[in-house]
Amino acid sequence: MNDASGNAPSARPPLDTIGQLELVEYPHPALRRVSRPLVRIDDELRDAVRQMFEIMYAEEGVGLAANQVALPYRLFIVNTEGRPDSGEEMVFINPQLSKPRGSAVQQEGCLSLPGLRMDVRRPERVRVTGYSLAGEAINADIDGFLARVVQHEFDHIEGRLFTDRLSEASVIEASRTLDGFRDIFAGKQSRGEVPDDQQIIARLDALERARCQA
Ligand code: ZN
Repeated sequence: MNDASGNAPSARPPLDTIGQLELVEYPHPALRRVSRPLVRIDDELRDAVRQMFEIMYAEEGVGLAANQVALPYRLFIVNTEGRPDSGEEMVFINPQLSKPRGSAVQQEGCLSLPGLRMDVRRPERVRVTGYSLAGEAINADIDGFLARVVQHEFDHIEGRLFTDRLSEASVIEASRTLDGFRDIFAGKQSRGEVPDDQQIIARLDALERARCQA
């Protein structure tokens, strides 16, 4: 179909083109999707990681998982300093966690649940393995704040949020905030500011087909 000027409308990019990324907030369906391992690292993906760092710094975060920018991949980034000019930029591809030890409670927040901060209990130490963006093997025993951030981000790629790990009393406290997020998201979808769930899932499926094992 042509527009009134007689020109063909510009073609939409294919669904599996990564393009410009945006942070998504709860209850965007990407956040509940179990991410699939990456088998293909291409320039588009490297550009996506660069965008993820920009988004993370702009939002003053210390970690960001791919599904928080609606990419269904087992990938997350961390810089515990949260600033481009300090700390270490870490990229974890197809990560796995093992050897959880100890237990600690610490307050957490999440860029996909802005404003909500709650105490979360997690193992104090953990081993993380996986690959860097350059394809180098990662194998590290980590503790402290880095272990906290890595476990939070790993939860994301498993489709989990920190609100799934709250104590019973905290769940009640958080539930009103979560209801509010759901109302806001439904409003954005009804106004067409966010695609509907069916469109979101079609794009996630296409992105998955492009870079994950069949
Ligand atoms: Zn988060």
